[in-house]
Amino acid sequence: MLFSKLRLTGFKSFVDPTDLLIKDGLTGVVGPNGCGKSNLLEALRWVMGETRPKAMRGGGMEDVIFAGASSRPARNYAEVSLVIDNSQRLAPAGFNDDDQLEIVRRITRDVGSAYKVNTKDVRARDVQMLFADASTGAHSPALVRQGQISELINAKPKARRRILEEAAGISGLYQRRHEAELKLKGAEQNLARVDDVVDQLA
Ligand code: ATP
Repeated sequence: MLFSKLRLTGFKSFVDPTDLLIKDGLTGVVGPNGCGKSNLLEALRWVMGETRPKAMRGGGMEDVIFAGASSRPARNYAEVSLVIDNSQRLAPAGFNDDDQLEIVRRITRDVGSAYKVNTKDVRARDVQMLFADASTGAHSPALVRQGQISELINAKPKARRRILEEAAGISGLYQRRHEAELKLKGAEQNLARVDDVVDQLA
């Protein structure tokens, strides 16, 4: 899947709608310290379904909303849209009907996050699965934070294995297995309850 545009509105320091066009080849973002380069990477992580405030360098999820400056009041919501060129139909099944995919995540104060894919409401899980099945996503090793390389070098083998599994595109399968196990547990509990009722009736 090819990312072609990132749009930020009220996200961290990007108070006005700002487009980052991602063209073929290498895209470099340069600027002075504190101008918002890392915020761009965080926006990408966030729209792909990141749920950990710490990964956004915040204390709570609403910390991504523009907090105000001396000349601008704080915003009530933050929105990030990611446009994907899907003309080669590389998106996972279920998302592969259109030439272009637009994933939008919006967080509103005291309301929480809402997601859309091509204007249709979807769940956070749907967006996370879309990217996990495409071997990318908020936890993808393709997104390298500051300090992450030294963390990797010092990581324990288990943590390294997770990175290899992510690259192999099987992390979505783990999530599905976990959900299947929960369903199985629920079904076993229901069966046990049925057995109790049958015993009482016998
Ligand atoms: P460096 O080169 O030092 O790593 P950078 O270009 O990566 O810097 P960022 O860390 O992305 O910069 O941006 C930091 C800026 O974003 C700071 O000025 C900070 O005040 C601003 N910022 C972060 N969160 C918010 C928010 N919720 N509202 C307004 N501004 C914010």
